[in-house]
Order: sequence, then structure tokens, then C-alpha cells
Amino acid sequence: MYQHLRIALEHAQERLQYRQEQSNIRRRRRKTIEICSTTVAQDSVTTYDNPKEKGSNDHLEMIQQLSTDPEETSDIDADFDLISLEEDTIELPSGLNSYCEVPFDDQDEPLVLDDLFPPNNNQNSSYLHSHTTIKTHDFCGQLIEIFRDANISNIHCSRFLRVINGVLPQPHNSPTTLKALYNSMQGVPTRSGVNYKLVVYGLTGDCPAIKLATKHVNHQGYWCCWFCYIQGIHIDNKRQYYFQNELVLRSTTEYAHYSEKAERTNKNIFGHLGVSPLATVFNIPLPRCLIIDYMHVSLLRHTRTVIQYLYQKYLKPKQRNELDELFRHQPFPHFCNRKMRPVKEFSATELRNMLLYGLLPLIRSFLPVDLAAHLSLYVTAMRLLHGPRKLGDDTEIVANELMNAYYKDHQLFYTNIQHFVLHLHCHLADQYYLHGSLSNLGVFGQESLLGHFAKSRHGTPMTSRRQVVPRHVFTPTQRTPPPSHYLLVFEDTNSYQIAARSSIKQITGDVVSIMIRNKLVKAKAVCHGSLEDCNTEYVRLTRVSQNETDEHDDVDSENDKLTIDDWPMNDVNVYSKPASSNCLSSTVSSSPILTSIQSPRQISDKGDQNVQIDKAENIRMNSKNSNILEDIDNRVGELSEKFVSTSSKIDQQMQRLSTKIDRFASTVNIKGFWFYNKHAIESYIDKSGEHFPSEYMFGEINLLDVMATDYGDYARQILQIIYTSDELKNSILPPGKPHLARPPLAKDRFKKFLEAVRYKYKLDSINFGLFYRGLLRRKLTDFLIEERRREPLKQARQSLKQSQAQRTSQSNFDETFG
Ligand SMILES: [Zn+2]
Repeated sequence: MYQHLRIALEHAQERLQYRQEQSNIRRRRRKTIEICSTTVAQDSVTTYDNPKEKGSNDHLEMIQQLSTDPEETSDIDADFDLISLEEDTIELPSGLNSYCEVPFDDQDEPLVLDDLFPPNNNQNSSYLHSHTTIKTHDFCGQLIEIFRDANISNIHCSRFLRVINGVLPQPHNSPTTLKALYNSMQGVPTRSGVNYKLVVYGLTGDCPAIKLATKHVNHQGYWCCWFCYIQGIHIDNKRQYYFQNELVLRSTTEYAHYSEKAERTNKNIFGHLGVSPLATVFNIPLPRCLIIDYMHVSLLRHTRTVIQYLYQKYLKPKQRNELDELFRHQPFPHFCNRKMRPVKEFSATELRNMLLYGLLPLIRSFLPVDLAAHLSLYVTAMRLLHGPRKLGDDTEIVANELMNAYYKDHQLFYTNIQHFVLHLHCHLADQYYLHGSLSNLGVFGQESLLGHFAKSRHGTPMTSRRQVVPRHVFTPTQRTPPPSHYLLVFEDTNSYQIAARSSIKQITGDVVSIMIRNKLVKAKAVCHGSLEDCNTEYVRLTRVSQNETDEHDDVDSENDKLTIDDWPMNDVNVYSKPASSNCLSSTVSSSPILTSIQSPRQISDKGDQNVQIDKAENIRMNSKNSNILEDIDNRVGELSEKFVSTSSKIDQQMQRLSTKIDRFASTVNIKGFWFYNKHAIESYIDKSGEHFPSEYMFGEINLLDVMATDYGDYARQILQIIYTSDELKNSILPPGKPHLARPPLAKDRFKKFLEAVRYKYKLDSINFGLFYRGLLRRKLTDFLIEERRREPLKQARQSLKQSQAQRTSQSNFDETFG
């Protein structure tokens, strides 16, 4: 340890001396020197070596030890003045020369550094590589700084750089030829040590994809069939491929020969444009390895074209709608997972269901017989090819015959749609023989896989949106049971609501997502627990807010006088104070229609009104937060607009409601309405101070002594006293009409009855007519009708009782004596 210190001190002294010399030299000849990075890197090491050269060989070992000493590094660091370094070389040429004579492979280093950090290169300002944000210049600068600070030699620097260079990604490390690639894929060793051999069986896809993969002419060109030599005819700017009795198939050797020739001559030879890049990969030679994808060829192209053709050329618009309805309502087995859809909406799966099952039976009644028969050829052939071998070895032969018959007559019914896809149906029998039924060959699965890729290829920068929130699973072992209810506060509207846990979609901390009118709304959970807990908390909060309301009301009492009718006319600015919202709420809640509808959910009226009531509710709930003046100002402004638009509606509804209530009350004659009756009669009570007699005699009975629950009951009792039951049964209320069969009740006694009612309830003589007409008359009419019914009912009941009694006595008699 002490030895180290001693060496370090010696070294430092040496350094100090050297630096003084250098500064002296610098002062003597001051000139600007171009600094080149490569020289910097080299010289930094050189200068470092220079003192070494001056000292003995012992220094070499010492410095290696020193380089680990942190105290010394600062000293050495300060030593690396670039300009002084440049002068070093001049001052001490012998040292540099001696360094150069050392057989280090220093040639590597400037090469690598030049590559990494060439001077005056535009690349210096570009990024190091595409996966980083660090610039090449910065990186090289940092690297050199580290090398300098680390006090390592030139050799070590270059070794470092070589290591770094060695582990950098190699852009073209994969095999460059398809064959090499394929070979690299062969014999892929697995962890268990088993080597697998890949066999590429075939190639499938839609026509453009196969065209590209096989370097063949596209599906609208001449000689476009991959399996046979069919040229095609040019009609109406399109190629049509009509039926041919004998198809000349392409053999594998011919295929290879012509494609090679096309590749060589760069010409189109029978549709070949070149050798397929995949030819070396296939274990089965072209064109045998090509598999027709029936999903694209039959379903998406030919079936769709034919159905659309039939729709346009053979069906009237009305029939189209009828057929669509038939498709839409066609019951279908649930395990198919799809229902049939109308023609305009279908996709591949629906087309398959339609072609194989629904099309023929449903469209039959809309088409001429021969057309339907022709179509059935196609459907039957496709069904044979789609499923297992229903007809044994003859399956594809029969299907091929059907398909040929269909293809042959196709132009009789359809013009200009003899496309290449129709021709490909001729080869489906071969496909069936080679590869099996079509249901195994479709690319449904691959298409959905591609769709999945396409959907998720972009990824997302929005990590927050895709954030996975772990699901809270509540178990019986959990100590605290989850709360059953939550008291939510909607911060944007400042309203409260109690929600059950089952109706809450998501809970993350305090924030709760809940569906309200099909909208996902976020709210803050203020309180949770049982329904009672939430309710008490809710009541507490509302009470707090109402207390504040009262305080504010005292201050702004003049605003209280505003009524619903005139307040929208006022300037909105009047409501800029926080209390104004409260005053508004008090006015609003005093209106009968709003108090009757407290919970906004129960309203099934128009949305506008809902919103308006929500707002009123919100503002009523608005408590401590009401000091946010502007917010309320805005809200009141909105409210006033809403209110203007809806106030007339509310008025109309109120009127309608009041008339309804009146009608209801007057028609229903039940004891529950005594309260209403009592209130109704109050407006007719005499206020002029008229003297009412205490006695009103009828015969020997004082009519005013009769006890009754209300005026209706009283009236009925008086009528029963004054009139006989026969009179009540057979008469109507005066004045009678000549065309009515029943006579009116005796008028003099009726007058007495009216007087009795008036005296009994001390009614005003002037308004008595109104009272009679509005309240009393209907009751009396009902009473008379009841009187008429009462007697027959009683008799009927009695007769029933008698007959039952007789029957029981008879049965008893039978039991006793039978
Ligand atoms: Zn063909």
C-alpha cells in the first residue's frame, strides 16, 4: 500500500514537471491546429506512453497499477490536453518513434476507427442504427473518451473495438438463395434431438397469389390455366373460357420445360413467364402441387357472381326482397354458428351455407324450371365434391359429369360470366382425387390467421389503453366481503348515485366504470358498503349541500322570487353567484312536475327533458364544489337554453296531468279519496258568514244530526231517509228528460235534500251549483245505479244459499237413508 503511494507520488511529480515544460512550449509557439479524432485517439495513448518512455521500465508496471487508482486518474485526465498532445509529438519525436517501432498491430486501430468515425462525413450526424437514438458522432466521441479515461493501451482499444464489432447484428446472415434457405430449414434439430424433415406438399391461395408464386400469366390472360392448355377468347374486353370437351393437361415435364424456356427467353410461353421461385422447394412437382382454393374460386367468385346475376337479370325488385326475407328468416342449425343472410350482406361462410343448403330450395319458386334445374347441377356437383365419398369411387366422376353439363350449358343462361374460375371447376374432380374433399382444402383458417396478423401487426403505442387490469376475484376466505353498493359521484355533472356492485362494469381503485343509457361513464366512488351505508352517506352529503343552500338563500333572497316562467328571460350573468344555482333548484323543485319525478331513471319521456331534469338534479346536489363560479355559470347558461326549449312542453304536460287527476278523482269513489274530497269541498265552504240553522227537520228526523264520513256518504244517507227504496230504484236525478224512461225523483223533497247537504257542510249558496255539478252529482248517480243493482244481487245470493242448503240437506238425507 505504502509502496503504491510512493510510486504514485513520484509519478505525479514527474507529471507536474512534464506539464510545466509543455505549458512553456505552448506559450512560446501558439498556433491553431486541426484536431482529428483519429490522432486524438492515437495520441492520447502515445502521450500516455511518453512519460513511460522517459522513465524506466519499472514505470510500465507501475502505470498499470496506477490506472486502477481513482485518485490518479484525475491527474492523468488533466494531462490529456489535445493541443499539448499535438506539441508532444513535436517535442518528443524520439518517444513517438520508439513507440512506432514496437511491433503492435496498431494498423487495425485507425482502420476500425476510420470506419466508425470518419472525419467530415455526413453519416456522423445520423443515428448509429435504426434501433437507437444516439448519433454516430456522439457514440464515437463517448467511446474515445472512455478509452482515454480508462488508460488502456492502443492494443486494448482495438481489441475492444473488434469485440464490439463482432457482436453487432449482421444484416445478411440468412441464406441468400431459396435452396439454401430450404436446406437450412431441413433437419431442424429440436431440443429432444429429433430431426424433422419438412415436406412442402402444395401451394394454395387465390388466383393472383398463385399467379405470383408460379410466375404464370394472370387469371384474365391467355393460357392462364395452370393445369391445362386453354387459351380463352377475347369478348367485350374480357377473356371468356368456354367449355371444351377435351382438356389438354400440362404434364410436369412440359411445365418445367416451358417455364425454364420462358425464364431464359423472357417471353410468355403458354402462359409461363418464368420458373417459379418456389419450384425448388416443392416436394411435388408443379403443377400437381397446386391446390385450387374452393373458398375463393367457388364461393367468393363463381357462386357470388351467379347469385348476383340471377338477382339482377331474373328477379324483380319485389322478388329480391322476398327472397332476402326468406334467407333472413330461414331457421338454421345452431352448430353452424352462422345464420343465412340476405344476398347483399353475405360473406364466404354464409355463401357456403347458402350454396350447399339454402339456395336451391329457397330460390326455386322464383326461377324458371330450366334455370333452376341448371343451377341444381352446380349445387349437386359442389355438394358431392365438398363432402365425403357418398358414391364411393365414382363420387368425383359423377360430380365431374354434373359439372361438365353445367359448364356446357352455362352460356345458355348466363352471358359474359364464363370466367377462369368457372373453368377451374373442371379441374375440381382431379383435385378431389388427389387431395380429398373440398371441405378440407379451403383457406378459411389461413384467411382468419392472416386477418389476425393484419389486425395486430401495428401494435400500439398507447400502452394505457391496452393496460391489463388484473381481475378482482372475491373468495369466501377473503376477510372483508366486497361491498354490495357504491355511492358514486359524477364529477363532470356533480351528481350522486347509488349503484349495486353487479351493475358496475369495472372498479380500479376509486374510479368506477358504469353503463348509463348504453354509455360507459366513469365516476368516483365516494363511499361503499351496504345500501344503508350508502344511503346515510348520501343523505349526509345532500344535507350538507342543503345547509349551504339555505345560507346562500338568506344572502340572495331576491333571487328566490324568480319563477320558472320568467327566469330564462333574465340575463345569465345574474346566476354567476354560486348561490344562484341553489335558488334555481329551489324554484325548480317547487314545481310539481319536477318534485314528482325525482329519479331521472324512471322517466320514459323525451331525452331533452331527461337532460334538463338531470341538470336540475345536478345543481341541487351541487354542494361544496359550488364555489367554482365559472363552471356553474356555464352550466346555468346551458340549463337556461334547455329550459327555454322544454318549458312549453312541461306546461302542456302539467295541464294534461292536472286534468287527468281531476277526472280520475271525480270518477273513483273510494274511501282512499276522502282526503281529496275534503280538500275539494273546502273551496265551496261559505266565507261570507252566513248563519246556518242547527236543525233541519224532515218529518221527525233532524237531517243535520245524521252522522257521515263525508259529504258523499251523508248525501246517500239523506236520500235513503227522504225517498223510499222503490223510488230510489226506479228514478233518476232531477231534472228528468222526456225521452228517458225513468222519472226524476220528487223535486220538492230533492230540494230539501240539497238544502240539508248545504246546511250540513256550511256551503256557499252561490257556489253550491258548482259543487253539485262538479262533485256531488256523480256520486248520486252512482248511488242510484248501485241501488238498482243491490236488490237483485241480494236476491240472487239468497237463492243461491237456499239451493245450497237444500242440496246439503238432500245429501244428508241420502246418506242417512240411502
Ligand atoms: Zn384448365
